[in-house]
Amino acid sequence: MNGDGVLLVAEGLRKSYGPTTALDGADLMVAAGEVVSVMGPSGSGKSTLLHCAAGLTVPDEGRVAYAGRELSELGDAERSRIRRRDFGFVFQFGQLVPELTARQNVALPLRLDGVSRRQAERRAADLMDRLGLAEKADARPGELSGGQQQRVAVARALITGPKVIFADEPTGALDSVAGEQVMEMLTDAAREAGAAVVLVTHDARVAAYADRGIVVRDGRSTDRLGSTDRLGSTERLGSTERLGVR
Ligand code: ADP
Repeated sequence: MNGDGVLLVAEGLRKSYGPTTALDGADLMVAAGEVVSVMGPSGSGKSTLLHCAAGLTVPDEGRVAYAGRELSELGDAERSRIRRRDFGFVFQFGQLVPELTARQNVALPLRLDGVSRRQAERRAADLMDRLGLAEKADARPGELSGGQQQRVAVARALITGPKVIFADEPTGALDSVAGEQVMEMLTDAAREAGAAVVLVTHDARVAAYADRGIVVRDGRSTDRLGSTDRLGSTERLGSTERLGVR
């Protein structure tokens, strides 16, 4: 592959918090529409890599380019516009606004982007319908199970039609059945929408939903830039042996 399909490139990222080195030269490449897992032990730098790639954290060194544009060269307004419209986010838990209904939560990114309440909620209702969440549209997060809340969070991440969904341990707080449901919904919906997914997880069963994976250890990723041909691979990394995880 010659790199034409590359949507997001993070290269040579370094980030320290005081004496702690979170990233020590990590790379991540994401092609349009692919699901990439980021595995590695706790504290290895996975979340920091995700935050830097998404423009939520500024690395000390290295570069991040989205759709051919260096994030560091964009102004704050443009960077947050990209985050709002082109990126979707799913975190481990506690991300829904408890006072709002599920539908209002899903509509929130559109509301923040200036869409009228009526239109935002109509689009949220349509999406929830397609994702099998219509029944829960009027419930508040406190009335939903953990798995249902995460599926609402996935719908919210999808509502703006993002190009990349960043998911940081999206099933981390769920049992395995609920986790599978969330992963199936996330990957099916992303593939249908043509959105790429960056999936941070320490769980090989979750990583098995990805097309491809990288491993982060001590702030360094195993996939090096230069091996761009690997981006074209749709090899599934399902087995723990092949991922080098014990
Ligand atoms: P992972 O996601 O693999 O568990 P993280 O990226 O969260 O790893 O963290 C990598 C290292 O950086 C850890 O040692 C963590 O304690 C440290 N770290 C991450 N974020 C911060 C922060 N905001 N302040 C201080 N230390 C941090």
